[in-house]
Amino acid sequence: MSDLTAGYRVRGIGRFWGIVALAAIVSLSAPLFVASRSYFEGEELQRAQSRVTLYRSTLINALERYQHLPFVLARDPFVIRGAEGADRDALNRRLASFSAEADLDAIYLMDTIGLTVAASNYDQDLTFLGQNYGFRPYFRAAMVGNRGQFFGIGVTTSRPGYFIAEPVRNIGGEIVGVIALKLDLSDLERAWSDGGETVFVSNRDGIVLLSSDPTLRYRTSSPLTEAQREAIEARRQFGTVTLGELDWADLGSDRVRLDGMSYLHVTAAIPGSDWTLHFLSEESEVLARAWLAVIGAAILGVVISAIALYARIRQVRRSLAESQAARHELQVANLDLAREIEERRATERRLEKARSELARASKLAALGQLAASVTHELGQPISAMKNYLAAAELDEGQGDSGETLTRLSGIVGRMERLTQQLRFFARPGGETFGPVDLVDVWREAFSLIEPDIDAAGISVTADLPDRPVIVRGDRLRLEQVVVNLCRNAILAMRGAPRRTLSVCVDAQGAVARFTITDTGPGLGGKKLETLQEPFVTTRASGEGMGLGLAISAEIVKEHDGTLSAHDVDESAGGGGAVFIVTLPSIDEEKRGP
Ligand code: ADP
Repeated sequence: MSDLTAGYRVRGIGRFWGIVALAAIVSLSAPLFVASRSYFEGEELQRAQSRVTLYRSTLINALERYQHLPFVLARDPFVIRGAEGADRDALNRRLASFSAEADLDAIYLMDTIGLTVAASNYDQDLTFLGQNYGFRPYFRAAMVGNRGQFFGIGVTTSRPGYFIAEPVRNIGGEIVGVIALKLDLSDLERAWSDGGETVFVSNRDGIVLLSSDPTLRYRTSSPLTEAQREAIEARRQFGTVTLGELDWADLGSDRVRLDGMSYLHVTAAIPGSDWTLHFLSEESEVLARAWLAVIGAAILGVVISAIALYARIRQVRRSLAESQAARHELQVANLDLAREIEERRATERRLEKARSELARASKLAALGQLAASVTHELGQPISAMKNYLAAAELDEGQGDSGETLTRLSGIVGRMERLTQQLRFFARPGGETFGPVDLVDVWREAFSLIEPDIDAAGISVTADLPDRPVIVRGDRLRLEQVVVNLCRNAILAMRGAPRRTLSVCVDAQGAVARFTITDTGPGLGGKKLETLQEPFVTTRASGEGMGLGLAISAEIVKEHDGTLSAHDVDESAGGGGAVFIVTLPSIDEEKRGP
């Protein structure tokens, strides 16, 4: 796999797991939101519950703090006497001092019809003195011997307050009046308001009496019935204030809607009264916290996914790198193996060549021995025969016998050439090596074969360089190579329609080359290795022994050169043969002695 493919694969993995992580986060968001919302709702409800408990106890404290004061005052001799009509000025002052001391709105004494006969605010403009509160429930309750408690807006002062009343009895136990106090709860409301929370108190009719938010005050959570309105009117509970309605709906499971907003709603009853304390907590805060939790979890999920993804990609990259390294090692091992195989094949080829050369050498060695003995045995008689024949030719001159002698002389000449050729194998080469100019070699060889060329009607083209082409070798033996190759060419062109012998001598770098091209029939697909074997010939018996190429190849080898051959037009075959002799050349300057 290429690096590019690996890169695509790693990126593909990254994209796939990225999409999976995103899908997981999105699909988990909704249940997570529901769960965290219900969790935060529960938590908020718990908090609201504890806030309600706190508000409830402060309210109860505020109300109960003065619960017993009317009871005590009702038994005060000054109050009893005052109720009976005596010393009311002194009582006024006494009540004023008590009221100031207890930080009360007012303490006042009513007679049995509800007319105020003594009051702590006797000296103020809006004094209760002379006012009749007989219609107030707290008065009525006291007149029947009970403690009266009531929240209402002051008829005289128009200020709201909490009223507590006790019957005043004379020594005979007869009710002679009612002592009452009015408690101002506005400080409590202010404290609620300052707390910044939404808390309010409603009565049995659902009318908000006290509230941290003044806009809620004197409004009802449900419409009032006619009877309720009449009763409220009768006790003049809210004076001239118009009772409005709240935009209120109970949504169930501790939730309400007020003025279009959702709240968690917790309530607590105030003992000893018909009051209910309400605490509202904005649901939007719960929702915000739930969203925060979801977003936090999503961010956490993204971070964890990113870390996991990064780790995964690193792992994939590592294993890719490992497999690439393993592949590389395998490739190297394969290359080594291929090289070893190639070396082995080359060795086999060398071995095969060495074997065939050994065979050829042993053949040539045997040939050498044979040639030595044949030429030795035949050499003397042939030359003697030649001499006699020459003498006989001179003596006899003309006629039939002269013709016979000429033919005999030809046969002996051929026999001599054969023995000369065989002699080559009988003597080792190499001992007469020196600098030889291939151009000279050609000229010398040409002079030897020129008569044959002329007789065969062959034209010769010689491409010779201007300067000498020097090789180190035996001049005569190199001439023999050129003569052999040219003779073969001449014979090959016998009967050919076009007969041209082309010779070229050239040198390139350290290689000198001698090329002989003919226009004969070519090698006919035969390999030089075959043709140069001793005694391989296609000529008629007596025309050739098949030793020409064998001798030439051997001489070239002695000179550390190579002999090669191919058809002129190799692809088509035929059309003439090319024989090339290459030899190591030496510079003219380096020419030895
Ligand atoms: P010989 O000439 O005695 O046959 P050689 O060893 O010189 O022996 O040649 C061997 C054979 O190679 C020849 O018989 C001939 O078939 C072939 N041969 C050599 N030179 C040529 C050539 N120029 N064109 C075609 N065939 C050739």
